[in-house]
Amino acid sequence: MRISELGTFCPREYAIGFLTDTTKEDFTNFPLQQQFDLGSALHWWIQNKSKAFKDIIVGNWKCIACNKLISDSNGNPYFGPKPKENCNHCGAKPTAIEYNEFYFRIDEPYRVTGKIDLVLNKDDVHRFGDIKSYANKPEGGFPNGKDVTQIAGYAFFYNYVPEAQKFPVPIDTDYVYLHYISKKFSYRESILTYPIKPSKLMIDEITKRVSEFTEATKTGKIPKPFEPCVKSNFSKGKAKSCGLSETCKEWHNNGRTNI
Ligand SMILES: [Zn+2]
Repeated sequence: MRISELGTFCPREYAIGFLTDTTKEDFTNFPLQQQFDLGSALHWWIQNKSKAFKDIIVGNWKCIACNKLISDSNGNPYFGPKPKENCNHCGAKPTAIEYNEFYFRIDEPYRVTGKIDLVLNKDDVHRFGDIKSYANKPEGGFPNGKDVTQIAGYAFFYNYVPEAQKFPVPIDTDYVYLHYISKKFSYRESILTYPIKPSKLMIDEITKRVSEFTEATKTGKIPKPFEPCVKSNFSKGKAKSCGLSETCKEWHNNGRTNI
């Protein structure tokens, strides 16, 4: 389960896909892909170029000339603000050094993968940040519920990453930051930052759905379909973008509950 899909994923779709070894085919049209790619470019710009964050962004850094992580004097991956010296492996200039997003994958007790956009260090307190780009502010304003769920998920699941793979500094996962960057010009709102305190309610909801999926991968017991899917006879809401709605519907109709 990708944590980036935490706010929208269906445990039943994932479980059926996993247990029947079915890969979802997903097509993105060109204009939408262009928006996604521009979003990725802004993402990169925050991590590597934005003056707003400067030395507050810390983490591991990679040289794109030799493709190696910059190391510290002990030979371990260097952790800190963007290096100001040349690559210690090949001598490439600091302009060739880029932020290396932290990737993790755990199988127990939850089967999840995630990528951390940012580690921010303010007064020696380290916290995670997530970057979202937007063209128009949603009517309900920021932060958006889906994004809050996602960042709360990163903070929560990081605690299950094996110690040896964690960052070399303690991370305060009680608070996380959501950064919204505008694709349009704005004097006042070029980057909006929201501190988020994941609540117990939020975490319970997240773990419930991830547990259903994790359990299914082990026991073959398929989670129940979403109520709106059943009510609309699998034609509305989540069912519209579901890769397995036909199978989901069929199995629901003939009462199949496990594989
Ligand atoms: Zn290098």
